[in-house]
Amino acid sequence: MRGEEPVLVEVLKMRALPEGSCDKLLEFLRLYRDAVQLVVDRVWRAEPLKKLSKRELHKLFYSELVSMGFRAHHAKEIYVYAKSLVDSARGNGGRKPILRKLSARVDKYDYKLDLDNMALTLKLHNDYEAKLKLVAPRERVEKFKGWSNYELVVKYEDGKFWASIYLRRAVKLLKPRTTMAVDLNFDNATLAIFAPSGKLVRLKRFKTPHRKMLAHRIWIERIQRRYPRSWRFIKGVGRAIERHGERTRNISWDYAHKVGDLIAELALRYRSVVVLEDLERVRENNKKGKRFNKRLGLWFYRRIRFCVEYEARERDLEVIKVDPRGTSSTCPRCGGKLVEYEHRVLRCGKCGFTGDRDVVATINLYKKYVLKYSRCGVPGVAPNAPKPDEDPSGVRGNKGDAMTSSYMNLYES
Ligand SMILES: [Zn+2]
Repeated sequence: MRGEEPVLVEVLKMRALPEGSCDKLLEFLRLYRDAVQLVVDRVWRAEPLKKLSKRELHKLFYSELVSMGFRAHHAKEIYVYAKSLVDSARGNGGRKPILRKLSARVDKYDYKLDLDNMALTLKLHNDYEAKLKLVAPRERVEKFKGWSNYELVVKYEDGKFWASIYLRRAVKLLKPRTTMAVDLNFDNATLAIFAPSGKLVRLKRFKTPHRKMLAHRIWIERIQRRYPRSWRFIKGVGRAIERHGERTRNISWDYAHKVGDLIAELALRYRSVVVLEDLERVRENNKKGKRFNKRLGLWFYRRIRFCVEYEARERDLEVIKVDPRGTSSTCPRCGGKLVEYEHRVLRCGKCGFTGDRDVVATINLYKKYVLKYSRCGVPGVAPNAPKPDEDPSGVRGNKGDAMTSSYMNLYES
């Protein structure tokens, strides 16, 4: 099969206004919190000696929780949640979790949700019920018509109740007519769309705002060098560093959303299956690693990739990941090794092929996709790699499109 069944999950957070008294709901939330804490305490004590399985958790806690007045699925949510808290605290070497906030995870068997009438009924302990009116703009809720919900979190915060509803929708994939390969690196995102014949039909580049982000990063590092030990404690300096860090985060999210949206929109127009590099393997890929600036690292790249994938899925487009190893060092025509020829241009020592670094990467991603997923295991038609004397963009007769007209600069510097 081609990867996992794609599913979209989103969380819809809304104000929830209790109808009538909220005493029982508050009582439930307190009871729930204390029950989670009780399980956390005992698992924390027991676990260094022996890891507890879900079955053992059930045996240890189920009847006790039920005797406290919880429903069957409450009990399950409580010990599963408590165990996950312990696991994550142990995982990062933290201390035993102490719960203060009032919040409860509720399984779909223990609530009734009516989004048409914005009404929520929660089943509480000892067969109590709480009815709540949900408050959210119509158009935010409208989007989730036809989605299924399977869990929610009720929270009490600053005197207000909130409900976060987990919704999901299976993605019914569009039948692809073309293939879009996306190569992400530090300077730009390059995409190439291939027809089933292997012919390249569209090439586009989005410049990344990395220079802008780097400027903030360099500023931070300079200050930290000037006050190597004390910067944290000097009033004003710490705050300024925080501000620059926040700027960097905003720029990167903003960019990732925009570019993810633009790429997915184009993929929809061409009915493309979207081919991305397999994230898990990027770390091992030294060639690629060098193409990223160490100071900004892979997180920026991961963020863009996340947005591209998300936006594509939301448009019912299939997303496929392929191993990126060698995509920027292998000749797309003969498989020989490519070496740097000029700035951003690679050349094959064996057959003399030359091509733009990023375009070469997209061709190789496409070839990997074809090899991996062509029907009956027969490799599909290889893309028409250009002859050595052709233009170095790596694309026959498409130089203008590749290098200028569609060279989109989202962030003018
Ligand atoms: Zn070659």
